[in-house]
Amino acid sequence: NYGTAAAVEDPIKPSVSIDHTKLLINGKFVDSASGKTFPTLDPRTGEVITHVAEGDREDINRAVVAARKAFDEGPWPKMTAYERSLTLLRFADLLEKNAEKLAKLETWDNGKPYEQALNVEVPMCVRLIRYYAGWADKIHGLTVQADGPHHVQTLHEPIGVCGQIIPWNFPLLMFVWKVGPALATGNTIVLKTAEQTPLSANLAAKLLLDAGLPDGVLNVISGYGPTAGAALASHMDVDKLAFTGSTETGKIVLGLAAQSNLKPVTLELGGKSPFIVMDDADIDQAVELAHFALFFNQGQCCCAGSRTFVHEKVYDEFVAKATARALKRTVGDPFKAGIEQGPQIDTEQFNKVLSYIKSGNESGATLETGGNRIGSKGYFVEPTVFSNVLDDMLIAKDEIFGPVQSVLKFKDLDEVIRRSNATHYGLAAGVFTKNIHTANTLVRALRAGTVWVNCFDVFDAAIPFGGYKMSGIGREKGIYSLYNYLQVKAVVEPLHNPAW
Ligand code: NAD
Repeated sequence: NYGTAAAVEDPIKPSVSIDHTKLLINGKFVDSASGKTFPTLDPRTGEVITHVAEGDREDINRAVVAARKAFDEGPWPKMTAYERSLTLLRFADLLEKNAEKLAKLETWDNGKPYEQALNVEVPMCVRLIRYYAGWADKIHGLTVQADGPHHVQTLHEPIGVCGQIIPWNFPLLMFVWKVGPALATGNTIVLKTAEQTPLSANLAAKLLLDAGLPDGVLNVISGYGPTAGAALASHMDVDKLAFTGSTETGKIVLGLAAQSNLKPVTLELGGKSPFIVMDDADIDQAVELAHFALFFNQGQCCCAGSRTFVHEKVYDEFVAKATARALKRTVGDPFKAGIEQGPQIDTEQFNKVLSYIKSGNESGATLETGGNRIGSKGYFVEPTVFSNVLDDMLIAKDEIFGPVQSVLKFKDLDEVIRRSNATHYGLAAGVFTKNIHTANTLVRALRAGTVWVNCFDVFDAAIPFGGYKMSGIGREKGIYSLYNYLQVKAVVEPLHNPAW
């Protein structure tokens, strides 16, 4: 079973050159100040793809100086919004033109299926950049009716130098989610890529330069979290921080921001999202979408539907069909056509996923299928389904971030609402029912930043995304993301001033 697992012993070599392995500072790709590099690995084999520059505090300092100069002296924040919009549109064209190259680097570095990177993720990046290009010249403040003889207006100004820290699960998509709104609003950026996946963002950054982005507006530092990441979060001259990653690290960077210059922080963190299947749902459709909600991207999605709650009347049928679907999932070399699942990102995540599977077995959940490593190389894990999962089991509480589906049983609506909300997380939720009353009740009762009804993982540049509770602070995408990158200035002038 499990598709073509044997293929991973003989990985396909992608035909793509790696042209950018250095730090982007002030418009140039440069070595790190220390001269140090670190390897980035192929998750199919654990072998080295290439070495990239290892940025640290001194490199962050150099990048912040460049971003500050580009902000204070321009031209970026001072050029017309229309020109900024055109730069972003040229960038989107270049992303489109280089789609295959970007997708190959993404699959090589991350292990996600090439077809997904090429046909889903790169087009989403292109669309998102065009969306924010559209906003660039539509940002304006208000005229305010204040008491008294004053003319009052608000100016929406760029916030300044933005620090951005991104994870490894969607390296290119997270890059554009971060830079799109920040650039549209006229800011300058120092962005740290995840140490596991530096390659695609480096190429995208080069494409932004080719699109005409002035030097110093975007600086990209590859490096580790506790060194380069912490230096960025605690920098006194960074005006705003945006972070995506684990809740644990989110707390650290929020603390660093507070202890340094109180820079505002937006956080997009982990989740343990419920996927609720009522007894009136179309079971085949619900099985397929619950499978997609959990297994997509090797299970490495912050919004994965990782608590599959199924009504007791349809529970057995659902578990049987979910198991059959997991058994059919094709796992193997992500460069091969038709492969749905590649390897996990690295040894750490691979071991973490296997240890949660062990915990599921030990805590008394029923292992319906999967549970093992595939092959002897790389980080492939069998699509795994547990039934009879109870709320207090670790696999029902923690973010596993892997291909492990936990199916829980419930009796009625009130119960499933209470149990769905009984978590510190609140990123997303899925609701499956044909009853509009049930759907609307759940939509309003669930404490989550996104509720998908009879669908899941519908992403769009215009739809805001973010978490309630410990899943985050603030929203990305859509109009909401713009406000993360704007300061509001109130301007008050007397209507009649005899001195004039
Ligand atoms: P992480 O949160 O540690 O890493 C995310 C980013 O933060 C990376 O760029 C990393 O270098 C940086 N970072 C790490 N420590 C830092 C620090 N002290 N200061 C500043 N930046 C720092 O995530 P991880 O260790 O790669 O993965 C661990 C778990 O996080 C996963 O198992 C998963 O549960 C979760 N995760 C969630 C998302 C998401 O999209 N919400 C993405 C990746 C991982």
